[in-house]
Amino acid sequence: MHMADLTDRQHYCKYCSKEFKPERSTRRYCSDGCRIKMWYKRNGRSRRNRKSSSSGRKAKQKKQAE
Ligand SMILES: [Zn+2]
Repeated sequence: MHMADLTDRQHYCKYCSKEFKPERSTRRYCSDGCRIKMWYKRNGRSRRNRKSSSSGRKAKQKKQAE
């Protein structure tokens, strides 16, 4: 029997392809930085919602809040 396969697997960051040892088996990135960058890459940098009039008001108010 060899049960080491599950824990001994090598992991490579999905973003920078660096090899890393995940603390949890579900991790796919070497660091939170890579995880976030990948998120932005997939979702776009701007947080613009689709042009819907429902959430347009708050964005304009914030403009001169300071
Ligand atoms: Zn990485």
